[in-house]
Amino acid sequence: MRWEARAAATRLASGDVHGVALTWVDNAGLTRVKTIPVARLAQVAERGVGMSPVFDVYLVDDSMTTSRHVGGPDGDLRLIPDLGRLTALAGQPGWAWAPVDRHDQQGRPYPGCQRLFARRMAALAAEHGIELRMGFETEWIVQRGGAPACTGPAYGMARVAELAGYLDDVMCALTDQGVEVLQLHPEYMAGQFEVSVAPSDPVGAADLAVLVRETVRSVSLKHGLTPLFGPAVVAGGVGNGGHLHLSLWRDGKNLCRDGGGPFGMTAGSEAFLAGVLHALPALLAIGAPSPASYLRLEPSRWAGVFQCWGLENREAALRFIAGAPDDPDGANAEVKCFDPAANPYLVVGSVIAAGLAGLEAGAVLPAPVQGDPAAGDGSADAGPAPARLPRTLPEALSHFDRSDMLRGALGEVLFEAVAAVRRAEIELFDGKSPQEIADATCGRF
Ligand code: GLU
Ligand code: MG
Repeated sequence: MRWEARAAATRLASGDVHGVALTWVDNAGLTRVKTIPVARLAQVAERGVGMSPVFDVYLVDDSMTTSRHVGGPDGDLRLIPDLGRLTALAGQPGWAWAPVDRHDQQGRPYPGCQRLFARRMAALAAEHGIELRMGFETEWIVQRGGAPACTGPAYGMARVAELAGYLDDVMCALTDQGVEVLQLHPEYMAGQFEVSVAPSDPVGAADLAVLVRETVRSVSLKHGLTPLFGPAVVAGGVGNGGHLHLSLWRDGKNLCRDGGGPFGMTAGSEAFLAGVLHALPALLAIGAPSPASYLRLEPSRWAGVFQCWGLENREAALRFIAGAPDDPDGANAEVKCFDPAANPYLVVGSVIAAGLAGLEAGAVLPAPVQGDPAAGDGSADAGPAPARLPRTLPEALSHFDRSDMLRGALGEVLFEAVAAVRRAEIELFDGKSPQEIADATCGRF
């Protein structure tokens, strides 16, 4: 480790990098940081840098609550950078970045660490002989002086022309950092864009979600623009999603295709996806964690508010993509009901835990749904309309509180901290209007 760190520090120092930003994401979904001079990297890689555990009960407005295990001024943790992810930041000259795992003062893994949780769940999947490939989509609304930074239509080429220099810089900065961009496009809302990147291992996908967002942020600021990553910017309008794509692999083969199950999925991937679908009401407390998330979760906005799945159905919470016959990587599933307020490490870990529970139970998927359930098109077998997912954070939290599966996977410390933050944010925004909630949160993530 020490040698690796020294090599990395030398490599960085020979360029124009002076500081390294060490980030982790708290339970409210905010990326927190300590920065160090590059010369300290070798030492910090070994001993870490200190940070209070109280940030695990910080809220979106920087006030704090307490959980059964966390809170108050006492204690310290060590942030240990993952040097395998060390990246010179193209959009932020002078700086490099690395995500951290958090350990206690004795060097033991900290049970409240979200990234270590994601690692544990990925390792558990590996014990089941499953490797997951995951990727987050990043959506944001970009403003200039409080108004959308472009006026062109939804998905319109006019927006690319208006902001050509900015979008070029976003794409180049990501590419320069070794991030493989799949696509970048204007989205529905005024000033809204989306970028998606190539899939990765689960922890890598969560790291990438952080890196992509921070890259978009720094490039936006350089252009005098303000990027808003909150789930709701305009109450009553389409929000920002943080969709998660996933596929299951074994021995280099994609288990989402060439099987005997629905649309070619194997029995294993069907069981895994059925586990995820079943757990969605509780998973919303992880993937749609803010009171603002529920301003976004409305039908007919492609946010996936129904607890159902369908082939290429953008109104289903779980959208299956069969992929082209000559594209073995193409088959995957997309969880659409999650948003960018979510901690991506908690998302990947919790989704794996839910999927493995489905796998262990040999779960099967219900009939797929075609069309918009809100439009009354009905399911393919004309069965009852699918259930709406929780419409409020308290509703999602009550499913979370009752989920032994998530409690077991997250462990007491992390589970209780997440629940405490959700409860406190419910209280924080109690009685506020939808637009007040959107305004207070959209620029925080
Ligand atoms: N912005 C939509 C959401 O809130 C998603 C649009 C899309 O399907 O990409 O999730
Ligand atoms: Mg989108």
